[in-house]
Amino acid sequence: MKILVTGGAGFIGSNMADRLLERGDEVYVVDNLSTGSIANIKHNLGNPNFHFLNDDIVTSHTLESIIEKCDVVFHLAAAVGVKYIVDDPLGTILTNVRGTENVLLLACKHWKRVVIASTSEIYGKSRGGALAEDADRVLGPTTVNRWSYSASKAIDEHYAFAFHQKGLPISIVRYFNSYGPRVNEAGYGSVIANFIRQAFAGQPLTVHGDGSQTRCFTFVDDTVRGTMLAGERTEAIGEAINIGNHHEITILELAGIIKRITGSSSPIVTMPYRDYYGQNYEDTPRRQPDVRKAQGLLDFTADTPLEIGLEKTIQWCREHYAVALNSHHGK
Ligand code: UDP
Repeated sequence: MKILVTGGAGFIGSNMADRLLERGDEVYVVDNLSTGSIANIKHNLGNPNFHFLNDDIVTSHTLESIIEKCDVVFHLAAAVGVKYIVDDPLGTILTNVRGTENVLLLACKHWKRVVIASTSEIYGKSRGGALAEDADRVLGPTTVNRWSYSASKAIDEHYAFAFHQKGLPISIVRYFNSYGPRVNEAGYGSVIANFIRQAFAGQPLTVHGDGSQTRCFTFVDDTVRGTMLAGERTEAIGEAINIGNHHEITILELAGIIKRITGSSSPIVTMPYRDYYGQNYEDTPRRQPDVRKAQGLLDFTADTPLEIGLEKTIQWCREHYAVALNSHHGK
């Protein structure tokens, strides 16, 4: 098949492009290299089945010609990473709302199947319990930049459902804290990248708040597999589906595991949220997916254990992070 992956030079998108190529698909990637990078795709640049366009989905004039020739569109291009979003809410809203609008309008014009990558951030401030896809969303005020990400992605989802009401075959996948090889060293998308970088550098692992907040970390191979299934199964059409690992862990526990696997002598310290995100920040205390819908509709479980996924991730980071390559602490 011919497949477009928007954001295909990013962390999840580039892993997905690799799997699609392995499967024998012809892959088109459109990416503006904002948080994605050539390094993520350079091994594919000579492959005749791989086509890369450095372009922005908000302003692109060539997107249409690519969508026209593709069978399925995986729309992963987005402003991602809480820190990035807090620092640039305008860019977040423009990219996530206008970009998705462009993709959906063109997909509708040429009547293509679309999978929209969404986020567990949709659910907002969860205080515990597995989040089913039809759970209420609990958001803070619009004066808190963080919620612009959740709101922008919610608009994307509403758009997608509205197009589906017109008959367009869309699916939505909601990601839960993906991590793995190619996770951005700057830490945009992940506390895991921050902790690994700090561990390599022999710097303190900075746990925000008291570290009792929880997340469910999903290995990128699982994230990609779930997304590809959503693009294949007819049962997924018109549905939003959680793609996440069920195992919940506190951020303090996570710091301890990363310290142990890296063999780092870094201390683990706590720091106030405002020292990292500035004033006016709100965190999500707990976040865990209800995975029954993914199991039922896609026959999918994100089953890579955290320790295994972290070992693979840390190995990759050792070989690629500048801080590891330049540091005596990166063993
Ligand atoms: N976090 C942390 N130290 C860091 C980066 C993040 O303690 O250096 C915390 C963050 O405050 C949040 C959790 O780790 O409670 C997950 O953050 P991340 O940005 O990875 O993803 P989120 O789930 O918040 O979108």
